[in-house]
Amino acid sequence: MTVKVAINGYGTIGKRVADAVAGQPDMKVVGVTKNRPSFEARRALELKFPLYGATDKGVEALRKAGLPVAGGLKELLAECDVVVDCAPEDLGAENLKAYRERKVKAVFQGGEEHEAIGWSFNATANYKESLGRDFVRVVSCNTTGLIRTLYPLHAMGAVEDIYAVMVRRAVDPNDSKKGPINAIEPVLKIPSHHGPDVASVVTGLPIHTMAVKVPTTLMHLHAVVVRLKRPMSDGEVAELWSRQPRVLTLWGSDGFASTAQVMEWARDQRRARGDLYETVLWGDGFKVEGRTLYYYQAIHQESDVVPENVDCIRAMMRVTEDGPRSIEITDKAMGILRPGERPSLTARV
Ligand code: NAD
Repeated sequence: MTVKVAINGYGTIGKRVADAVAGQPDMKVVGVTKNRPSFEARRALELKFPLYGATDKGVEALRKAGLPVAGGLKELLAECDVVVDCAPEDLGAENLKAYRERKVKAVFQGGEEHEAIGWSFNATANYKESLGRDFVRVVSCNTTGLIRTLYPLHAMGAVEDIYAVMVRRAVDPNDSKKGPINAIEPVLKIPSHHGPDVASVVTGLPIHTMAVKVPTTLMHLHAVVVRLKRPMSDGEVAELWSRQPRVLTLWGSDGFASTAQVMEWARDQRRARGDLYETVLWGDGFKVEGRTLYYYQAIHQESDVVPENVDCIRAMMRVTEDGPRSIEITDKAMGILRPGERPSLTARV
């Protein structure tokens, strides 16, 4: 079975999802949308992705610039089994009407509200429950990162309460319009949306979150404190995380003093765009004291949700009913190391 996938919104997330889908053995990209004849639209054509306009105005603008446009959204939806909506925040919920009308399954991103879409996804936490669904939201980059390290603790019944502060990158590297460039901006809506967002996938997880924006573009960083139901050891937690897919441990003592070195490592791996799909833990930056677990983790906001989108497609299309198998296929195609292939957290704890 080859799933025909459309990408509506070929921007930061959309172009990464397109590449990831194109690299899978069981999927192909049947088209991508843009609204402006930007360098990204031209790059899509160079990569042989059929180009469509996201709106009527978009079709017109692309045609006016002389780009070969295959049609509008309606035409693209006729070509695909599933559309991955990567439009700017809140537009996905508007696009949902068109998908419903055309009876096309759709994956949405974390910029949409859970309530607007009806179901939220993370491959480790709820692949099985997402099988065959028509409209699913892959949760945001921060929420994805939190679930990857917290869900395993929750699944073993170890969590009493979670407190987390998200130190958020101000903008993505390609965005020159927003800031802050010289300030630390507290997110005044308390608690921040991240806690409820995690609970939209892992029902009932007691998580309390706040967030601040800082002048960096590289990554988000989380400082997390978990109150455990029983005392655990560093070794026990390390062992649990070592077995999780898409959780990578790096060490301050190896020179990873900050997100700057983490992203330099990612570029050295020669993955596409220097992306880093895994949630990064510091092996010497976590500690359990009795019933309290402290840790830091870093999230590459532009890419950690990309493999999740691929698994979400497989679940919705029932390509496989086995979540861990889907993760394995996705990660192999994207060059993400499996638990046994990457530096072990347990070896040095
Ligand atoms: P982006 O602005 O980089 O890209 C959006 C793309 O959508 C652009 O190519 C734009 O041309 C296109 N577009 C414009 N109007 C459209 C329409 N009406 N219909 C379809 N497409 C349209 O945005 P992004 O950063 O890729 O974010 C997309 C979604 O992913 C948002 O929900 C966002 O919250 C979420 N997300 C973003 C990040 C991140 O760090 N950038 C991380 C995780 C999730």
